[in-house]
Amino acid sequence: MAATDTPRTRITWDYAPAPESADHVRLRDTYGLFIGGAFVDPRDGQRVPSINPATEEPVAEVTFGGEADVAAAVAAARAAQPRWASLPGRERAKYLFRVARLIQERARELAIVESLDGGKPIRESRDVDIPLAAAHFFHYAGWADKLRHGIGGRDFSPYGVVGQVVPWNFPLLMAAWKLAPALACGNTAVLKPAETTPLTALLLAEICQEAEVPEGVVNIVPGDGATGAALVRSDIDKVAFTGSTAVGKDIQAALAGRGMGLTLELGGKSANVIFEDAAIDQAVEGIVQGIFFNQGHVCCAGSRLLIQESVADEVTAKLWDRMRLLRVGDPLDKNTDVGAINSAEQLERIEALVQAGVDEGAVRRSVACELPERGWWFAPTIFTEVAPAHRIAVEEIFGPVVSVLTFRTQAEAIEKANNSRYGLAAGIWTDKGSKAFEVARALKAGVIWQNTYNKFDPTAAFGGYKESGFGREGGAAGLRPYLRVS
Ligand code: NAD
Ligand code: MN
Repeated sequence: MAATDTPRTRITWDYAPAPESADHVRLRDTYGLFIGGAFVDPRDGQRVPSINPATEEPVAEVTFGGEADVAAAVAAARAAQPRWASLPGRERAKYLFRVARLIQERARELAIVESLDGGKPIRESRDVDIPLAAAHFFHYAGWADKLRHGIGGRDFSPYGVVGQVVPWNFPLLMAAWKLAPALACGNTAVLKPAETTPLTALLLAEICQEAEVPEGVVNIVPGDGATGAALVRSDIDKVAFTGSTAVGKDIQAALAGRGMGLTLELGGKSANVIFEDAAIDQAVEGIVQGIFFNQGHVCCAGSRLLIQESVADEVTAKLWDRMRLLRVGDPLDKNTDVGAINSAEQLERIEALVQAGVDEGAVRRSVACELPERGWWFAPTIFTEVAPAHRIAVEEIFGPVVSVLTFRTQAEAIEKANNSRYGLAAGIWTDKGSKAFEVARALKAGVIWQNTYNKFDPTAAFGGYKESGFGREGGAAGLRPYLRVS
């Protein structure tokens, strides 16, 4: 019988549920503030539950710090700083190496808690967030005794006490981006995690205890915007902030005239540029990775897709086919591609901007998927017929929504890509190396990926232009914002 005559039954490639077990995760019922090396009760703060956005159920109770709590944390950091700075670099490195190793040891637990508290797929917290957080501590442990080499041989001193405010999209990873270089440089820190995702930072506090990081070197005070506002206005020497451009501007205004260090990593509306000579199938994967990674809650998300007109229909058709395969649902399921939206507020923002896109005349397509009854969800969405002035082409949506624009020539691609008040990242997809470098040179963006997207590495500097902020995190460039250089 010829092969073609073989009777076939239709195979359906359904996935069985593959939930990650959370049985071994031992969260406390309630967490105090981590000040001076211990978990303490609040002075003027209050206890609040931290919610799982996939179920709307509380995961654990935490404490939001008040002004007196922030002041106590800053005082603890101040007291610890001279001795920490006077340690030989290799001694500070020892503690950072220990923290890195303990993150690795507790990686599975940290990944589960990250997904429970924030809604991101376990595949991402397990394979991206937690390993990269450890890698950042390893990387800056390596720099701690080589600081002079990292800043071109000049004289330097640490700032002193740094206040660090991080967002909810990469909770532990952003804490690592902030703490590792600050500590390597001899600063002590007060870190404020975001209101919806404080839990992994509190596990990191336990790790600091286990690593015997000296008391007061790391202080962790969860809270909301009021806690953050109190921290940046307290008696500190430098602020490092990642979050929205609006809050970044508020912080910059609050610090004006105080002679303090400041780095801001803010929003973006990054262009992902697909040329007609690109490997189209790979580009489609890169587009998906660029915008649907972490539900699109990514400051450098490739949210403005620029496609060369000659291939626009082909790319959007293939992208839509690929989008329909994305699995939306339980963040703890290992097959999930798109998890829960981080909060009800963020879901509202996404819905409002998507509605604006429809009202302004763009064409919306959202994947028809069954969304869970409870929790906050948004189906992967693509907009075509987008005009450059539409709000969905200009404003950061911070959700699983991509806006497609087209261009005819390389010059037009560059002009459209740069037509933004932001400048955080960009992607370039082409088979021609010279074109990739030419376009990269012309783009005003801090990070530019060629034939890939959303690749992160602790050795590479990350940061923005224009309203995406200033200062760099990662690599040797990431030391400079934590040192006064003379
Ligand atoms: P946000 O800027 O309000 O929050 C980020 C962090 O800043 C949180 O820890 C928050 O508690 C703190 N904060 C809030 N107000 C503060 C203040 N006045 N002073 C000091 N700290 C303050 O961001 P959001 O409200 O959670 O999200 C709003 C939008 O911001 C999103 O839709 C997205 O566009 C953008 N965003 C960007 C990033 C990023 O990585 N660049 C991260 C989160 C959100
Ligand atoms: Mn939460």
